[in-house]
Amino acid sequence: MLYGQMMQDQLTITKILQHANRFHAGSQIVSKTSDDKIHRFRYDQFYRRVCQLANALVKAGVQSGDRIGTLAWNDHRHMEIYYAASCIGAVCHTINPRLFDDQLTFIANDAEDKFLFFDPQFYGKVSELKDTFESIERYIVLSDAKPEAADAQGVEVYEDLIANEAESFNWPELDEKQASALCYTSGTTGNPKGVLFSHRSTLIHALSVSGGDWLCVRQKDSILPVVPMFHANAWGIPYAALMNGAKLVLPGYALDGPNLHTMLNEEQVTLMAGVPTVWLGLLEYLNRNNLTIDSVDRMMVGGSAAPMAIIREFEEKYDVRVMHGWGMTELSPVGTLGALKSHQANLPPEDRYQIQALQGRPLFGVDLRIVDEDGNIQPHDGKAIGALQVKGPWVVGSYYKDASPDSFTEDGWFETGDVAAIDPEGYLIITDRTKDVIKSGGEWISSIELENVAVGHPAVAEAACISIKHSKWGERPVVCVVLKEGADADPEDIKAVYEGQVAKWCIPDEIILVDELPHTATGKLSKLELRRKFEGYSLKTDEA
Ligand code: AMP
Repeated sequence: MLYGQMMQDQLTITKILQHANRFHAGSQIVSKTSDDKIHRFRYDQFYRRVCQLANALVKAGVQSGDRIGTLAWNDHRHMEIYYAASCIGAVCHTINPRLFDDQLTFIANDAEDKFLFFDPQFYGKVSELKDTFESIERYIVLSDAKPEAADAQGVEVYEDLIANEAESFNWPELDEKQASALCYTSGTTGNPKGVLFSHRSTLIHALSVSGGDWLCVRQKDSILPVVPMFHANAWGIPYAALMNGAKLVLPGYALDGPNLHTMLNEEQVTLMAGVPTVWLGLLEYLNRNNLTIDSVDRMMVGGSAAPMAIIREFEEKYDVRVMHGWGMTELSPVGTLGALKSHQANLPPEDRYQIQALQGRPLFGVDLRIVDEDGNIQPHDGKAIGALQVKGPWVVGSYYKDASPDSFTEDGWFETGDVAAIDPEGYLIITDRTKDVIKSGGEWISSIELENVAVGHPAVAEAACISIKHSKWGERPVVCVVLKEGADADPEDIKAVYEGQVAKWCIPDEIILVDELPHTATGKLSKLELRRKFEGYSLKTDEA
């Protein structure tokens, strides 16, 4: 074999940290902290504090491969742990505070976390669960003071931990395949599963996501990831921003309309990223108060299907280009992103929105295919629907401590558990989770499509479609709908919206108004819980 003669530099997160410090020292990281203050510093100051934390961790006996747990919102201290833990060769294990208590216990014990860094807001939760954690040796509150609670015993203060440490660190040479971070999936059935990212997978994922057609991250950008750092690395933005010297704006716990609006304007944000629910909240607040977000140029939405209404409204009212993406924790997490191809860019708006509402095209590095029930590969014609499988250098190859052979095909593809079509241009069309598909008279009906149509009705805030047993058709769709605050609508009016938008046999049998819909810890609709609630429900259309 003839080898290339390039340097064998390892692709490690340390390289991002050092590059940010050397070449973008003046770029800023701005955070809303847990005590409602704005914290602002430059990359070089950030670097010095990462060194201090690295020194403290090493002094405390943290070894290569040890897991360091975090229970925290997006702010500068969480960023410091991201980098210090990974760059000393340990693993930053982000834990989702919205999980149920027994899942938190399971996750911390399964990961064998040695340290737990947590925001003051989670002090109550940590105290309650402390006795169930088997491996955690030290508890550190992310603050400059102890929580007020009388028994804050055994809790150390972050600022004290790093205060007297040196502001430089002799970073070890790491192997790019070494684990850098760990994140558990939300696990709607059974226990959550751990996904162990490597330095290499994290770095090339961030490189690819930053690309020109995608997030197009530039030094002049100001980026606000609303997507939490405790879930799937905040879509890689903590790495992509530092690679490119962009300003990073971290919103802390404050994800509501007023707070986001203030941060977007005061920090002149150009790019924002988050799940549809957050954007619906922001839109509602902007519309109600006649406000603008003039600096924002583009946004990424994903994590669950983005209704077309979001895409249209952000573009037409606020001049923000919406990129709809699909991903999973198991994909580090981004797999596809929406960017129009040159021949689509000048289509009439309604035609463009149709394309932008699809889940986007694969980033370089991600290969996609769909297969039928017998494993036959299906064509990319936008019509054939099948189980979605993926492959690539930032796709999980095996779960942490859990072989899960069912999740992988014999030829090495990962089974996403999603059902999808792929169109001839490569756009992904997610129709369902495998567990949520609706089969009526032998035909599949897309619950996501029916939810999107319902949300297109002006009075509808949120919609969830599930199947109900039917004696003739096997299953029929119903859509549960939450109305916008103060709005009023008749279920039949909402049903009328489907006429002409979906095939007649796909029109839901019933629209059911509900006060709220159940969500998982990652903010996705919990169809499992909704189905449980409607178990035994009999449809008026079922005459048996
Ligand atoms: P998680 O690992 O918690 O991020 O969840 C991943 C799952 O979220 C995927 O397998 C999809 O079912 C769903 N998902 C993510 N993005 C989208 C999207 N844009 N449209 C529809 N479903 C999505």
